[in-house]
Amino acid sequence: MHLRTKFDNLTAKYSACTQQTAFFYLVMLTCQSLTLQASVELGETVRIAVGRFTSEVSATGDRIVATDLTGQQHLKKDNIKVTRRRGHIVLNGINTKMPLIQLKADGPITIGKYSYAHTIEVSVQSVKGRDEILVVNQVELEDYVRGVIGSEMSPSWPIEALKSQAVISRTYALWNKYNRYDQPYHMESNVLDQVYRGLKRQSDVVKQAVKETYGEIMVYMYRPAQTYFSATCGDHTEDVGEIWRESLPYLPGVECGYCKHAPRHRWDVTLTEKEVRKAANVSGRIKSIEIISRTKAGSANKIKVRTAKQSRTIKGTALRAATGYTKMYSTRIDKIKKTKGGWRITGKGFGHGIGLCQWGAHGMAEEGKSYKDILEHYYPAAHLQPVY
Ligand SMILES: [Zn+2]
Repeated sequence: MHLRTKFDNLTAKYSACTQQTAFFYLVMLTCQSLTLQASVELGETVRIAVGRFTSEVSATGDRIVATDLTGQQHLKKDNIKVTRRRGHIVLNGINTKMPLIQLKADGPITIGKYSYAHTIEVSVQSVKGRDEILVVNQVELEDYVRGVIGSEMSPSWPIEALKSQAVISRTYALWNKYNRYDQPYHMESNVLDQVYRGLKRQSDVVKQAVKETYGEIMVYMYRPAQTYFSATCGDHTEDVGEIWRESLPYLPGVECGYCKHAPRHRWDVTLTEKEVRKAANVSGRIKSIEIISRTKAGSANKIKVRTAKQSRTIKGTALRAATGYTKMYSTRIDKIKKTKGGWRITGKGFGHGIGLCQWGAHGMAEEGKSYKDILEHYYPAAHLQPVY
């Protein structure tokens, strides 16, 4: 469920990318199917940044073959020490004179604590004027989805909920792939994207959820939809346009009604005077905190904070960001009341509330709804489509 924080923080990044045309995606999807015909054995892949190292990193595996992009083989060993020299990759002390080297083995390749399937790429990247070694795992999309679901949703949840999460994670990966097609990698392996730890034990139900949704993503106008989701919407999801000012017809804000059993469907938190002062950038004793506008779903859009000398209006999202995403669980504030210790806020929901409500998906699955019902409910206007 890490994405709630990530999505809360990535508005700018997504906004920048929404300018791309539907035509571009159509071309990409077409190119993808042509590529698939040429290399069926590999299938759709994604490139995940799995590590960055200042000067050296070791790779171990069964007969690792190191080749450059021209196909020339540089080394074949079980243990390879990768260093760098003047923008080039050095393998076990031998300078390849190449900025990027691919590593493939008969089985997985281990880097640090984790093992990875398929291909590892090591390259020299210049970051803020300093060179570093970037490690990227090129992995089949289906393997990737299997690897990430467990970090986004509990494997103990009903399979139809897990299947909806599988579609979301796959869609998210493809969306990033097409938006970062010319970058060294498509996604981070941490909470900035989806937490990915390479090959690890996966429960049978997770494998089944991925298998039963093989190749399916949510699509709108020939492009992968932006399948935002949050842990608990608190009865009604948000219209994305009201929160992030991007107009996406498949994220209009819908009634949920399936997440009443969520642990944070209702919550309360007490903010100290200091916390509120810092969030609103005011000084002096706070006299009042008042919600002056709300979204259609009921979230605090604008909040006015008054002291003896100042009055400042801040966004509800700014108050949440300043106090902490796991302290003030959402901006769905019902009441704000002055108490001895500060200001008591009661609210509901956990996360930004845009797109699929995970606890709502849980509730729908418990009531016998299918993953298709779940996705249609939270992303009306987008539709499920197999892309391979
Ligand atoms: Zn909900």
